[in-house]
Amino acid sequence: MDLLKRRIIEDGTELGTEVVKVDSFLNHQLDIGLFMAIGKEISRRFGHLGINKILTIESSGIGIAAITALYFDLVPVVFAKKTQPNTMTEDFYGAEVKSFTKGTVSVARVSKQYLNPEDRVLIIDDFLAHGEAAMGLCSLVEQAGGTVCSIAAVIEKEFQGGSKKLRDAGYYVDSLAVITAIKDGQITFKD
Ligand code: 5GP
Repeated sequence: MDLLKRRIIEDGTELGTEVVKVDSFLNHQLDIGLFMAIGKEISRRFGHLGINKILTIESSGIGIAAITALYFDLVPVVFAKKTQPNTMTEDFYGAEVKSFTKGTVSVARVSKQYLNPEDRVLIIDDFLAHGEAAMGLCSLVEQAGGTVCSIAAVIEKEFQGGSKKLRDAGYYVDSLAVITAIKDGQITFKD
């Protein structure tokens, strides 16, 4: 998605060779016009799959998932929680997820009432790096007996191996901007 790649080049910052900071439009301040273009593009790529639920993980996936739902006939958006609030008194599905940015391990949780066997789920996240978060989300859908239709990342860092891991596990992955390397302050994208 050229618009997104341009934005990453113009407004993103590389932190070393592993991390991209995109706080000005995706992770802190949210550019809703760009989110709408992203939502439209995700619907163009996955609109034919009969998706009836979008699943993401808190917190940075929520905004993009919510706007994307506008282009999927307002399907419900569910986000996995990384801690168990004391309001979550009901039974939940859980999967361990190692955080790329924090280095900590947490349990991604979704209440059993929000994932069901008839769900055809599109998993969305802001970044795909090592695939830990996406793998955890797939596990939650499968524990519920639902179907993972596809995984859509806004920005994928292909060199960290997450998409390969997910594809090897049989999942369909398609990302809007695929970074192949970050080197000498330069971000290289796949065409
Ligand atoms: P993974 O689980 O695929 O290793 O990492 C994905 C998660 O880590 C995403 O939910 C995202 O929040 C965070 N993440 C991974 N890489 C980056 C990055 O380069 N920049 C930012 N801002 N977040 C990242």
